[in-house]
Amino acid sequence: MKILVTNDDGIYSPGIACLAKVAAKFGEVIVMAPDVEQSGMGQAITSTKPITYKKSPIHFEKMKAYRVNGTPADCVALGAHLFQGIDVVLSGINIGANLGNSAWHSGTLSAARQAVLFNIRGIALSVSVDEEEPNFEALEPFVSEALKEVIHDKERDLLNINFPRQPEGEILWTAQSVRHYDGKVVANKDPMGRQHYWFTVVPIEHEGEGTDRWAVKHGKTSITPMILDLTDKEHLAERIKNKSIS
Ligand code: MN
Repeated sequence: MKILVTNDDGIYSPGIACLAKVAAKFGEVIVMAPDVEQSGMGQAITSTKPITYKKSPIHFEKMKAYRVNGTPADCVALGAHLFQGIDVVLSGINIGANLGNSAWHSGTLSAARQAVLFNIRGIALSVSVDEEEPNFEALEPFVSEALKEVIHDKERDLLNINFPRQPEGEILWTAQSVRHYDGKVVANKDPMGRQHYWFTVVPIEHEGEGTDRWAVKHGKTSITPMILDLTDKEHLAERIKNKSIS
């Protein structure tokens, strides 16, 4: 199995080192990740300047590893172009959960989505954080278990996996929490007294049972199967039906 590992926290993040290490148990790993942090970039691609890549062996023993001056989606596109026969793209492990509506902004999930656009399966992995950095060594067995469950499943194109800060081991298949928008804008003043704003993915309201946010809040590992088709099929069917009547 040929696995492309990427992320949006940048190639020097401990999260991608952990993911590459665990992924190596499942097949040949190629690492291709942004040279600086690209969190919140969503699925942006660089189309107005050329992209280059350089070898980056730090943290990646016996693996091909490259840093790219582009977005997470660029890394996937470039990896798919340079290396034939990639079976799956793993993106993460993001430092910070990617739950609910943060799916729209997340560079981590978008890299997995970009893989699906290239007809390659994509799996995003993220871990919740509090004030302390995640303990990736302790997380390794849980990452391994989650990947074991899904990495060979060719029926599922796009998965969003989230680990709680301290997983208990139980894996729950969940729905994306879309009931409440989580994207708070926090206004503040800089040291010069100028107004500025922080854009966050802090949840505004409580989560629904069975959703990704609910699972992680209750100490479970959440796996959400996703699709790319955004068509509102019910609305479409209604429109088509009404048109044929009139
Ligand atoms: Mn990130």
